[in-house]
Amino acid sequence: MTYEGVLTKMQTELNDVVQYYLVFEQDFLNLNQVLDKKLSINFLKYRCLKCEKEKKVFANGVCYQCFSTSPDMGQWVIRPELSTAHLGQEDRDLDYEQQAQLQPHIVYLANSSNVKIGVTRKSQIPTRWIDQGAHEAIEVVEVPNRYLAGITEVALKEHVSDKTNWRQMLTNNLKDLDLVAIKEELRPYLPEEVKEYYLPNAQELEIKFPVLTYPSAIKTLNLGKTPFYEGILKGIKGQYLIFHDGMVFNVRKHEGFGVSLDIS
Ligand SMILES: [Zn+2]
Repeated sequence: MTYEGVLTKMQTELNDVVQYYLVFEQDFLNLNQVLDKKLSINFLKYRCLKCEKEKKVFANGVCYQCFSTSPDMGQWVIRPELSTAHLGQEDRDLDYEQQAQLQPHIVYLANSSNVKIGVTRKSQIPTRWIDQGAHEAIEVVEVPNRYLAGITEVALKEHVSDKTNWRQMLTNNLKDLDLVAIKEELRPYLPEEVKEYYLPNAQELEIKFPVLTYPSAIKTLNLGKTPFYEGILKGIKGQYLIFHDGMVFNVRKHEGFGVSLDIS
């Protein structure tokens, strides 16, 4: 079977085991059904996910021009504390920013390799946790806008990491932590204006990923440098495909890459 299209991050579905889908314009593919089969990936050409021109992808699946101007690529996306829509101040497009920032956000703890703090829109839970490859996660506060979530993250990252070690995440060397207890320990460090939004009764969510075997030595596939690869798919975790020879492929980092996939 051959599939062709432009890569976007894998769509997911929380189930006993996470279900993963590649969605192309004409087709979609449930990758769980490709486990233990040979998958070849052939890079054909770039296509910016915004302007659809065949321009080299700069970041987030878009060309440099789109990255510099699109309202959903502003600095407040990765640094939520820089959000200003709650003040009525525009970064690139106030209508867009109000819609995106002035909605419920969650500050959470997720354990994918170590416990880390993060921020997401409430509507992105549990998708965000699955994308990070977290095997357990818990909500800490639910706030009405992105700015409040951002200042909470800034305050709490004095006490807990805000980064994932993705190499560690792709091994089977994972600890089960008591996230309820860690959440309680962090409670005193919440910013004053956020304390009322603490979620005292939140429970851990456990997530199981479809991985048959974990790699011992990891190599990363970069289609920009190596336009063709084939291997036996042994697992999917976070936004990574894991192959029999230790090669891992970060699908999200290849958004905007037009590819053909062959399964045999
Ligand atoms: Zn573009």
